[in-house]
Amino acid sequence: MLSYRHSFHAGNHADVLKHTVQSLIISSLNEKDKPYLYLDTHAGAGRYQLSGEHAERTGEYLEGIARIWQQDNIPEELAAYIGVVKNLNPGGKLRYYPGSPLIARFLLRECDRLQLTELHSSDFPLLRNEFLKDDRARTERTDGYQQLKSKLPPPSRRGLILIDPPYEMKSDYQDVVKSIQEGYKRFGTGVFALWYPVVLRQQIKRMCNELEATGIRRILQIELAVRPDSDQRGMTASGMIVINPPWKLEQQMKNVLPWLHKVLVPAGTGHTKVSWIVPE
Ligand code: SAM
Repeated sequence: MLSYRHSFHAGNHADVLKHTVQSLIISSLNEKDKPYLYLDTHAGAGRYQLSGEHAERTGEYLEGIARIWQQDNIPEELAAYIGVVKNLNPGGKLRYYPGSPLIARFLLRECDRLQLTELHSSDFPLLRNEFLKDDRARTERTDGYQQLKSKLPPPSRRGLILIDPPYEMKSDYQDVVKSIQEGYKRFGTGVFALWYPVVLRQQIKRMCNELEATGIRRILQIELAVRPDSDQRGMTASGMIVINPPWKLEQQMKNVLPWLHKVLVPAGTGHTKVSWIVPE
């Protein structure tokens, strides 16, 4: 039984980091004419109403996207991402937040393909409805991890695989590594982007060690913390681990993370990080 609903968290600081990285990778893939596959293993509902009961109850977006989307000195690294947010909110009031599938829908080209999977009985129909009229997209209510076996390699031999589980179950920390291994075996040139929360630092250290032990190379880690690590309940930071990142991504994130951290965390607590778990 799945209890996690992303609508409580949409647009929070972790989404800002994840969707910044996602949009930069997509923009890099778009620089070559050749089509590619965007595979979103844990897609969520696609669109979130920020004035809805769920988002209002936690107010997480107020310390996330609400702090940045109307700043007048937005760095160029955020242009594509914020462009999508503005597109969804043409009146200038922040009412909707785009999930990862919608960000991909806006940024992908006519020749590219989207494969989106979501298991939740309430979120899947919302996702399916969003994409009914998009011929590029296929939505399925099925296990996202299995997609790394069944959908790779894509016929186009280019692709971004976003893996964004809720980490509701402790086994997710191991499952992500196993499924990346499976996916990489089939599609070693793909870009794999894995989101993670920092709740207990030990779990993330273990996950990174397990990734390193797979023998996969070119693994970049990007992290934004809003508070120092803690053994209390709650997420203090989040990160993205990117395998085969586009060559510009490391520098782009080094450029933009200090600005993001300053605007998202006025108190100045926490940290940012861009470093290689395994280099070239
Ligand atoms: N990627 C989305 C975004 O950035 O907008 C958010 C996804 S949310 C963090 C995780 C989603 O995974 C939830 O909607 C949950 O229902 C779904 N989920 C959980 N286990 C799954 C599984 N094994 N396969 C596919 N989806 C799953």
